[in-house]
Amino acid sequence: MKPCLAFLLLMAPVLHAAAPAIKVLIIDGQNNHDWKTTTPILKKILESSGKFQVDVATTPPKGEDMSGFKPNFSAYKVVLSNYSDFGGGGQWPDETKTAFEAFVRNGGGFVSYHAADNAFPTWTAYNEMIGLGGWGGRSEKSGAYIHFKAGNFLQEAKPGPAGHHGKQHEYQVAIRNQTHPITKGLPQLWMHTKDELYDSLRGPATNMHVLATAFSDPETGGSGENEPVLMVINYGNGRVFHTVLGHGPEAMADVGFIVTLQRGTEWAATGKVTQKPPSDFPAPDHTSVRP
Ligand code: ZN
Repeated sequence: MKPCLAFLLLMAPVLHAAAPAIKVLIIDGQNNHDWKTTTPILKKILESSGKFQVDVATTPPKGEDMSGFKPNFSAYKVVLSNYSDFGGGGQWPDETKTAFEAFVRNGGGFVSYHAADNAFPTWTAYNEMIGLGGWGGRSEKSGAYIHFKAGNFLQEAKPGPAGHHGKQHEYQVAIRNQTHPITKGLPQLWMHTKDELYDSLRGPATNMHVLATAFSDPETGGSGENEPVLMVINYGNGRVFHTVLGHGPEAMADVGFIVTLQRGTEWAATGKVTQKPPSDFPAPDHTSVRP
């Protein structure tokens, strides 16, 4: 054996051990969105960073027995939900809900992706984890609206429904906290590809910080408010990254979506972000996509 090959073989396990992949569990199986298309895209986005190893846990279809759905959350650093019971049914077993609460409370990471914040309107702990949610009968009883006005975040407790969006369009995302590990080093403004823009979300918003907003323009059927689009929440010892972006493949091709999902998932898993801002990040006035 040549010495150089021996050296490489010797070093390979050490090099590998220096940066073990972060284990991610994506949950899907029911959603009022096309989860069969979006889960492989989420998996590819995460794995393309070189930071993650992704497994998928799929629930039984709507209306079928959920009692056997018991993922081993503790085998993962972070759980990403592409799941929503929107439209009724699809509750996880109580045992699974309790295990998920314990996982996050004890320091596990959670990523709430797009319509995951439509899910479980009456599950108290889940709503504390996501901070803000929409639809599913949510109302002022779910919590206040949160909007960015004149440089500050305001909670508005006025009565009204929760969850709405106008027609899909390109819109500018504004980072409001540039010191958080997820957003540090990213441009303050970027143009996001055609997507839904959620507005009028409501929730407990406990231990929640909004990282980015987007203006929901009445001209496209929006609220006229600067709406939260990226959030972080502390739940017990756990960290939650909540992105409302990414309705479908077109929106998920945006480098802004890709990079904030990669960085947000790493932060939820570890509390740190080791990924460098990429050179193809979108500009304030034009989008940037990856195939
Ligand atoms: Zn959607």
